[in-house]
Amino acid sequence: MSSQKVSEHVAKVAAERAKRLRPDGIDQYPTLSGEFAPMNEDPFTDRIEREPYRDHVTVAVIGGGFAGLMTGAHLKEAGVSDVRMVDTGGDFGGTWYWNRYPGAQCDIASMIYLPLLEETGYVPTEWYARGPEILEHCQRIGKQYGLYEKALFHTRVTGLDWDESARLWSVRTDRGDEFTAQFVSLGLGHLSVPKLPGIPGIETFEGHAFHASRWDYAYTGDPSGGPLGNLRDKRVAIIGTGATAVQCVPHLATACQELFVFQRTPSVIQVRDNRPIDPEWFARISTPGWQQRWLDNYAANMTSAEQPAEDLINDGWTAMARMWRHADEVPRPDSDTHEELAGAYYADIEKMGRLHARVEETVKDARTAELLKPWYWLPCKRMTFHDEYLNAFNEPTVRLVDTDGKGVERITPRGVVVDGTEYEVDCIIYASGFEVGTAPTRRAGFDPVGRDGRRLSEHWTDGMRTMHGLHVHGFPNAFLVQSLTGGTRFSNLAHNLSEAAKTVATAIAHAVTTGADVVELTRQAEDAWMSNVGVDPEWRTFLGTECTPGYSNNEGTDLGPHSLWDEAEFPDGLGFFRHLQEWRDSGKFDGLEFHRSDR
Ligand code: NDP
Repeated sequence: MSSQKVSEHVAKVAAERAKRLRPDGIDQYPTLSGEFAPMNEDPFTDRIEREPYRDHVTVAVIGGGFAGLMTGAHLKEAGVSDVRMVDTGGDFGGTWYWNRYPGAQCDIASMIYLPLLEETGYVPTEWYARGPEILEHCQRIGKQYGLYEKALFHTRVTGLDWDESARLWSVRTDRGDEFTAQFVSLGLGHLSVPKLPGIPGIETFEGHAFHASRWDYAYTGDPSGGPLGNLRDKRVAIIGTGATAVQCVPHLATACQELFVFQRTPSVIQVRDNRPIDPEWFARISTPGWQQRWLDNYAANMTSAEQPAEDLINDGWTAMARMWRHADEVPRPDSDTHEELAGAYYADIEKMGRLHARVEETVKDARTAELLKPWYWLPCKRMTFHDEYLNAFNEPTVRLVDTDGKGVERITPRGVVVDGTEYEVDCIIYASGFEVGTAPTRRAGFDPVGRDGRRLSEHWTDGMRTMHGLHVHGFPNAFLVQSLTGGTRFSNLAHNLSEAAKTVATAIAHAVTTGADVVELTRQAEDAWMSNVGVDPEWRTFLGTECTPGYSNNEGTDLGPHSLWDEAEFPDGLGFFRHLQEWRDSGKFDGLEFHRSDR
C-alpha cells in the first residue's frame, strides 16, 4: 500500500461522509404511525377477539422474542410457573416473527445465535439458519416451557403502574386488559420499531407499499419463501441497502419484471459461506455444556485483547476481530506521510481494498460495480455477509439507482424520483430500518410509573440508568432483559440476552422462594454501577468526526442521551458475563434489597 493510496482513501472517505451529513439527523425518519399506521399491521396472523383479563399473575413477561422466551424458560426451570407472556405479534419470535422478508437469515452462527439449543435438543440445519427455522425454534421454546398457556398475543401494553399499597404492578393493554403482576420483565428489543425514510411526497404514492419487516406476501406471492410469483409483471422499488435489503434483493432480482434498488450508502458485503450442519459432526461436538462453551469461545474471540487459543466459530466476524487485534502489524509504506494514523486505519484500508476487489470481480457492469463500493471506515456501519447480493446486479431485470449519498429526492403518486428522473413503479418496499437513539420509553410505547409516581422517562431523562442493564432504582419488581448500560457489546446480542434472562429469572425465583414480595435496586448500587458506564471517549470522537452517518452515530449528530454505546468497562469482553454469573451464583444479589411484608 503506497502513501498516496492511503491519502486518497482517507480523502475519499471524508468526502463521502460529508455528502451524507444532514442537519435533521434521526428526525429525518418518520415511524409507521399516524397516516402510515396501516403499514404496521400484522400481515401474518389473524387477530382473535377475546375478553379482557382482570386477573393476577406472578410474572408478566412483556415481549415474546429471544429476551422474553429465555426469561420465561429460565423462570419455569427455576420453578416459577405462573408466567404470562405478552406480545404485540400473533406468536412468539419477536424480530423473527416480524422480519419474514424472503432471504431473512441469521448473521451469527446458528450454534450460538439460537437460544436454548442444548435444552431443547434441537440441531440447526445450517451454519446460518434461515428465518422460518428460527421462528419455528422460538415456537419450540414456547411449547417446551409451557409459555403459550397464558400468553396474550396481538396485545400491546399501554400502561404499567406500580401500586405501592398492593405491592404489585398493574398492567393495562390495548385489548382492555387490566391485570396485576407481582413482577414484570421487559424484553422489548433494540431494533423493533420500523421507520420510514423521510422522503418528500412519501404519502402520495398510489401504488402498493410496505416496510420489509411487514412483508406483504399476499401481494408478492409465496409465503413459503420460493419465487415471489405475483411480482412477475411488477416494477418494484426497494429503498435502502442495509442488512435487510442485502438479504432480500437476490430473491426480488429474479422475481420482478423490473427491480430498482435505490441506494444512499452501499453496504460492506463480506463472504457468507453458509453450509449445512452435519448431524454426525454436531453429535460429536455437542457434549454436555457445549452451547455455553461455544458462546464463551465466541465472546472471547470477539472481545478479548489476547488472541484465544481456539476459534470454534471461525467466521467473518471473528476474522474481523482478529484483524483489529493485529492491526498494528499491517506493514506501512516505506515513506509514510501518515504517521498520525493508527494501525487500525491501515488494516481497514487493506480490508476495504479486498472488499472492493470482490465487487469488481462479481459485478459485470463496471459503473454499477463502482457505485456498489462502500467508502467509509469499517466499524462505522453494520457489516453484511452475502454470496448472492452482488451477483443480483448482473440480472438484466435489476437496476441500481445510486443517489450519490443524498437519498431519494421525492416520491410521486407514480414512483420514485432521483436526480430529476422519475422511476415509475407498482410497488415500493421500504428496507429503511428501525428506530435507534430515541428514548426507550418512546420505542416501548408506554412509560412505566414506578415508586412515588415517578415515570421511567423522568428517571432516564439524561439516558438509561440501571445496574447491569437489568435493574432500575425506584422501579421495584421490574426487570429489563437487554444489553444497554450492561457490560459487553459485540455482535452476538443473543448471548447478552441469555445472560440477562438467566440473571433476571434467578432474582425473581429467589424472591418467590424466600417469600419476598418486593425486590428493589438501591440508589447507591445504581449510582455505583453508572459511575462505570459511558461511551469510550475515543470511540465517541471517532463516531462523531470520522464516521459516515448511520444508526450507530445517531446519523452523524451528537450521540444524545440514548446512545447505543453506553456500557460498563470490563477489561475483557467475557468479564461482564462472568461478573453476572458470580453475582447470581453468590445468592447475595448485591445491590438488590428483598423485602417481605407481613400481609
Ligand atoms: P438499516 O438502518 O441498516 O438500513 C436502512 C437503509 O435505508 C440504509 O441503506 C439507508 O441508507 C437507507 N435509507 C434511509 N433513508 C433513505 C433515503 N432517504 N433514500 C434512500 N435510502 C435511504 O436497516 P436494515 O433493516 O437493513 O438493518 C437494520 C439492522 O437490523 C442491521 O444493521 C442489523 O443490526 C439488523 N439486521 C440483522 C440481520 C441479520 O442478522 N441477519 C438482517 C437484517 C437486519 P444509509 O446507509 O445512507 O443511511
